[in-house]
Amino acid sequence: MPTTVNNVETLTAVPHILNNGPEWYKAMCLSSPKSTGSKLFSVCGNVARPGNYEVPMGFPFKEFLYDLCGGPLPGRKFKAIIPGGSSVPVITIEEAEQVKMDYEGFLEFGTMLGSGGVIIFDDAQSMPKQLARLARFYAHESCAQCTQCREGTAWMTKILERIVAGQGTFEDLDTIFELTENMTGKTICVLSDSCGAPVTSGITRFRGEFEALITGRRSSTVAVGG
Ligand code: SF4
Repeated sequence: MPTTVNNVETLTAVPHILNNGPEWYKAMCLSSPKSTGSKLFSVCGNVARPGNYEVPMGFPFKEFLYDLCGGPLPGRKFKAIIPGGSSVPVITIEEAEQVKMDYEGFLEFGTMLGSGGVIIFDDAQSMPKQLARLARFYAHESCAQCTQCREGTAWMTKILERIVAGQGTFEDLDTIFELTENMTGKTICVLSDSCGAPVTSGITRFRGEFEALITGRRSSTVAVGG
């Protein structure tokens, strides 16, 4: 049986479900009958209107990003999204525009709804630099009980920062995937898994940016200062 999670989002929904009935709540969903009711999303990053939004499950992500959240900042374009908090895989904006915002909808594109913490990157951002920053966060947060996490998050950070500094190699990219395999599903909690998921999905989807840094070329999709 699932664990009962008494967080603020759950407790906020309970009185309305009790007053209006479960069928009323379920009827809010716009796509999969498996994901019912509404969902809170917290939006940050390169977007006109960051903030907290409540939408029915299955709401079109494209409409969410461009209408509710106001679209990109002036003169910029969206490039990548981490939709469920920093621990879930990165998707491209082209993928995001096809997503229905429910558990199944995000899974279809290889990522997860997770905590609903949407992080948006525009075309001024360097994905290698942003992912190195994420890895450093996980290395800092590791409580160091598990070897795979303690060593893995530190190695991941070291390799990514080497690539960002223009001193990486193609072997470094292979090593990151190998490292992630050894960090995933082998530790006490999922912090270790959480470090690898955004990084490997980011390399898969934005490999050109990593290769440009490795070969000494500058990625044409990254603006100065990104
Ligand atoms: S996986 Fe969790 S328990 Fe293990 S070292 Fe990392 S943070 Fe600590």
